[in-house]
Amino acid sequence: MENVRVRFAPSPTGYLHIGGLRTALYNYLFAKKHGGKFVLRIEDTDQTRFVDGAIENLIRSLHWAGIDYDEGVVIDENGKVSQKGDFGPYIQSQRLDLYRKYVDELIEKGYAYYCFCGKERLDDLREMQKAQGKIPKYDGLCRGVSLEDAKKRIAAGEEHVVRLKMPKNKNLEFDDLVRGHISINSDDVDDQVLLKSDGYPTYHLAVVVDDHLMGISHIVRGEEWISSTPKHVYLYEAFGWEKPTFVHLPTVLNDQRKKLSKREGDVSVEDFKKSGYLAPGLVNYLALVGWSPEDNKEILSLKEMEEMFDFDRVSNAGGIFDRNKLDWVNAHYMKELSGQDLYELAQPYIIEAGLVDEETYKAKKDWMIFLLQTVQGSVSTLKEIPQAISFAFEDLGDLGPEEKEILQGQTVPQLLQALEEKVSAIEDFNFDQAKGLMKSIQKETGIKGKNLYMPTRIVLTGLQHGPELANILYLFGKDKILERIRKFK
Ligand code: GLU
Repeated sequence: MENVRVRFAPSPTGYLHIGGLRTALYNYLFAKKHGGKFVLRIEDTDQTRFVDGAIENLIRSLHWAGIDYDEGVVIDENGKVSQKGDFGPYIQSQRLDLYRKYVDELIEKGYAYYCFCGKERLDDLREMQKAQGKIPKYDGLCRGVSLEDAKKRIAAGEEHVVRLKMPKNKNLEFDDLVRGHISINSDDVDDQVLLKSDGYPTYHLAVVVDDHLMGISHIVRGEEWISSTPKHVYLYEAFGWEKPTFVHLPTVLNDQRKKLSKREGDVSVEDFKKSGYLAPGLVNYLALVGWSPEDNKEILSLKEMEEMFDFDRVSNAGGIFDRNKLDWVNAHYMKELSGQDLYELAQPYIIEAGLVDEETYKAKKDWMIFLLQTVQGSVSTLKEIPQAISFAFEDLGDLGPEEKEILQGQTVPQLLQALEEKVSAIEDFNFDQAKGLMKSIQKETGIKGKNLYMPTRIVLTGLQHGPELANILYLFGKDKILERIRKFK
């Protein structure tokens, strides 16, 4: 495919929704697959929704996820919002003159008109239509105002907007790569406001003008925009511009088939990061919510996806976001982390949990890495690490009834005696010795299997199950092992 140019066009409303990340990801993958360009544009024409710092937040979230782009809004080396690329500005509030120019063109050509209806009239109209069981829609009153009169009223300072003049009974059609052919009759489409009374364009005008001027070949966005697309299709026609290819993605749903919402927990990329997911794990899983590769492989690197991705394998039904599956995918990436990466990534979670202070974390780096690698295979997220390693820091709490009973076993006193003797006799307690310890006790005492391992584990950690015993022995070291054994003798 030639000249693929796609864009992700979020509004800076505060955070990047996980569904938005998936939209960005599919755009990115499609651009990569076809050697195209990916643009990040900020759609901030709704000034009432603007949130300070939201642009920076969006960019940081994309960056964390490993999704980079060729043009658009970036953060420069001084931490300031800046822009790169030949089609800028990429922030809509910096393009107001442009929209004005295009809206004037539509008015001149008769595709748009000034509307002076106030809020009160529009509210009454809506109520009346609703009461009649009709879908609320502007009734076109100001279509009757001549351009000359309209200009006079504007000159006299009357508040106004500009509306798109939808044609009567016209089929507005487009082909969507996921949803197929779509046709809507213009009689069912509202005379959309294009320019608001504050001089800002609405989303509908700005998106069409920008996608055209930025040479966008494929518009890839969430399906909540599909009902707006006929208006856009008509705008392309009114301007005499070739329309791009449309791709509307299924919504990311929760297990109740509703849109993921803040009330139920994690929804933003930042939330998932804080919950201890790794970027490659989150991105890998998210790609599968709505898309599957030909061989149905589930563990896929970004590179692999870049080669495989296409819209023909994107489902047109909503994709369910399954947290257990995410955990499963993330656990895979957790296992792949090097000791050093694990050490760095886990640090904030461990410090926050109060298990060690920063200084100790640094001073005992090798020990920490060994400890982290001991539990690496048993956790799904970074956030689960403090709990998994807590046995190495906390005092032994009260034993549960089952554990107490196990320690009543006949061979336990002999086992503890042998353990104490053997460990006391070791001068330099290293990992090989830790590994050999239990075997030599088995040989000497004849105690084996469950009778050997369970009581030892309980004496050391208070629990019946947990990491490799040899690792625990090594991590504890001679003094701590002896201290715990003596507690139970
Ligand atoms: N600004 C819209 C949003 O916040 C973008 C819609 C589109 O991609 O056209 O989702």
